[in-house]
Amino acid sequence: MNNINFKGYLKKYPNKKGFFGKYGGVFTPQELEAALNEVTRAYFEISKTKAFKDELKEIQAHFQGRPTPTYYAKRLSNHLGNGNKLFLKREDLNHTGAHKLNHCMGEALVAKKMGKTKLIAETGAGQHGVAIATAAAYFNLQCEVHMGEVDVIKQANNVSKMKILGAKIIVVKEGDKTLKEAVDSAFDAYLNDYQNSLYAIGSVVGPHPFPKMVRDFQSIVGKEAKKQILKLTNKLPDYVIACVGGGSNAMGIFSAFIETENVNLIGVEALGKGASYGLHSAATTYGKEGIMHGFNSLMLKDNNDNPAQVYSIASGLDYPSVGPEHALLHDLKKVAYKTVSDKEALEAFFLLSKLEGIIPALESSHALAYAFKLAKKVTNKNILINLSGRGDKDVDFVIENYPHLK
Ligand SMILES: *Cc1c(COP(=O)(O)O)cnc(C)c1O
Repeated sequence: MNNINFKGYLKKYPNKKGFFGKYGGVFTPQELEAALNEVTRAYFEISKTKAFKDELKEIQAHFQGRPTPTYYAKRLSNHLGNGNKLFLKREDLNHTGAHKLNHCMGEALVAKKMGKTKLIAETGAGQHGVAIATAAAYFNLQCEVHMGEVDVIKQANNVSKMKILGAKIIVVKEGDKTLKEAVDSAFDAYLNDYQNSLYAIGSVVGPHPFPKMVRDFQSIVGKEAKKQILKLTNKLPDYVIACVGGGSNAMGIFSAFIETENVNLIGVEALGKGASYGLHSAATTYGKEGIMHGFNSLMLKDNNDNPAQVYSIASGLDYPSVGPEHALLHDLKKVAYKTVSDKEALEAFFLLSKLEGIIPALESSHALAYAFKLAKKVTNKNILINLSGRGDKDVDFVIENYPHLK
């Protein structure tokens, strides 16, 4: 952990041009840059107004069901021993079952206030697609979700949900027909229709202002958790742990602790089947600097410097890059980035389910698995884990493929 003074960090990063140190920025065709400038201006203006803040607060309380609880997992803590206490921030109880709706409702409210009539988004596993379709339904906006053909087949249930919610699915048949191509396709669609639409990105990735905007909207998770854990324990936690795909749930919870000293922040990436090329998606841990999807960050590359093939059992974690802010926090050593394999995540998935009656998302199971490992090494610590989502979406897959682990 780096104990240099981080006071004022959130104001300092990103800078006006959207850079987190050398990471972030806007690397897009010029026409798109103009559209993004408009979004930046509007966002900074609109999000400061009382009317905007009041409306978002009202939505969080009465539509999303916030605040979500911070829960002391007593049986789990006793099971792991060493006098450590594990606390779960229950984003699984946020409407639609994950943290994603936090930024989707914010982005949709910005779109509405900007006078836009349509939301355009990409989705991999369909989790962001369902959240954005939910937000579009709430605000009576049109919604177009770009999704690779491979994912459309794999994630039939989420495709059905999006359709029921009124979204139009654009099936992307280029390249590997998965998330990367879906992002390219959604950017193209946005470029062709930015007068009427807003691109609602799914994580703290993409060109400025998205990494900041999504962090701002997700910061509600950390603000609540900080208040709640202070009430439960009378002090700040020793560790805060979150899984990192693009990095939005992690930035949401880290942002409340980043300017404080002596709180260890840990981001957990997917090691998948191992550290070799193509078997994992740990972009912060193993990546090199590179530009993709309009921003500079750490990125996994193939021999030709193109985005690498990536893999994780948790489809929400398999992205070849990572939010630019994580790249900075990695370089500054403010956040420690660790990895967890498929197998370890599955063990955590089953353990939390059996001991606490909470089935976690496979993504969140990565954060849990690292916390369990940590709890075997340290004593008398308070460990706060962001339980980013519930595992309902994963149960069929897990039972079909790993019946022996049950
Ligand atoms: C999408 C998703 C993630 C990964 O996204 P981040 O932007 O890294 O938070 C993690 N957990 C759940 C439940 C998700 O749906």
